[in-house]
Amino acid sequence: MDFSETERVASFRSVVRELVKKEVQPLERTFLSQGFAAVLPQLRAVRAKARETGLFAAHMPPDYGGAGLKLTEFAHLSEELGRTPLGHYAFNVQAPDIGNMELLLEHGSPAQKERWLRPLARGDIRSCFTMTEPEFAGSNPVWMGTTAKRDGGAWVIRGHKWFSSAADGAAFAVCMAVTNPDAEDPYRRASMIIVPTDTPGFERIGNISVMGHRGSDWASHAEVMYHGARVPLENLLGPEGGGFVLAQHRLGPGRIHHCMRWIGICERAFDILCGHAATRELAPGDLLGSRQMVQQWVGESRAEIHAARLMVLHAAWKIEREGAPAAREEISLIKFTVARTLQRVLDRAIQALGGLGMTDETPLAYWYAHERAGRIYDGADEVHISSVAKRILKRYGRR
Ligand SMILES: Cc1cc2nc3c(=O)[nH]c(=O)nc-3n(C[C@H](O)[C@H](O)[C@H](O)COP(=O)(O)OP(=O)(O)OC[C@H]3O[C@@H](n4cnc5c(N)ncnc54)[C@H](O)[C@@H]3O)c2cc1C
Repeated sequence: MDFSETERVASFRSVVRELVKKEVQPLERTFLSQGFAAVLPQLRAVRAKARETGLFAAHMPPDYGGAGLKLTEFAHLSEELGRTPLGHYAFNVQAPDIGNMELLLEHGSPAQKERWLRPLARGDIRSCFTMTEPEFAGSNPVWMGTTAKRDGGAWVIRGHKWFSSAADGAAFAVCMAVTNPDAEDPYRRASMIIVPTDTPGFERIGNISVMGHRGSDWASHAEVMYHGARVPLENLLGPEGGGFVLAQHRLGPGRIHHCMRWIGICERAFDILCGHAATRELAPGDLLGSRQMVQQWVGESRAEIHAARLMVLHAAWKIEREGAPAAREEISLIKFTVARTLQRVLDRAIQALGGLGMTDETPLAYWYAHERAGRIYDGADEVHISSVAKRILKRYGRR
């Protein structure tokens, strides 16, 4: 097993680390105290610099202006960018756009790619993904109320969605809707349809207040209504009834992106924890880091972050070699393991900083609030744990 970093990864890691440190981290304070809109003009200038590195939308093929990074390479990039809340946006690899780019690249028609994928990859527009509904358990993906019915040359969509991240200012939504209610296989009943957000009948009711923040622009989560929104039949993304198959394709690499971003957050939190423990005096000459409790936080955090990174890189490697369906167990394992590691590391860092940890002088408090959702979205912990356990027990049953 070769654990050495490839030359390509080593070279882009240093470029990205420098740009993030010099250009993105200085925007954090304004972002944390005044919100995303306050830093958007500066972020546009940073994006221009990110383009010059050749790593803008780096997961996309060169034909779309990307660097054509493999998933295992992108994982390292995601970790670097995760060290600041604005890193992924600066390089146009932020959720949910990255997932929608991957969907369009793999399943979009040539016309859909020209109209939606190219401007998305250039960073000229943003998008959102509307699947979850307030009235139905999002953990059960075959149970939803939104329908899309054929009417002449159009789909007519009716339904209620929420937690549509980044819908505020998005140019289009990918809508998951039931198109084939009578299909015998429940996983063949829904489809994905592209809905421009200026379509009459598409209404963004407003941004939901999450942990005390309503957010704006990309940094927000919206409630959305489809009141009979009509879009042409050719806006179907992928095959009719293929919504769940596409969603699975989207979520496999998506979980690698999130998990490596979380590891980037863990590394930054760890730096903050250690920097504070090694310099904060509890009395003259008496360092916080001399306490065994704090040493335990440092040692345990180091071990947990290291283990998490190896797990995620292994899952990425397996997806790359065998495809996401073959790596389902590994993907579930990392999803709940890394989300929990993140919670623990952030909690220890905040505790070590005391009152300072609760302020917006560091990104710890922001992450503590906003990344709690990591244990819920893209499959709640309990769903992944149960799915892994069922697979394992099935193997024992066969014996
Ligand atoms: C910050 C954030 C961003 C999001 N972004 C998007 C987005 O862009 N687009 C989108 O469509 N959705 C988005 N979501 C929605 C997210 O995908 C759902 O919240 C998630 O799928 C869970 O669905 P639910 O909220 O309906 O919870 P429910 O399905 O009602 O589940 C509630 C709880 O029940 C338990 N549970 C559920 N099923 C099982 C089971 N089988 N076994 C054991 N326990 C179980 C779990 O503890 C779970 O947390 C986002 C959510 C958050 C918090």
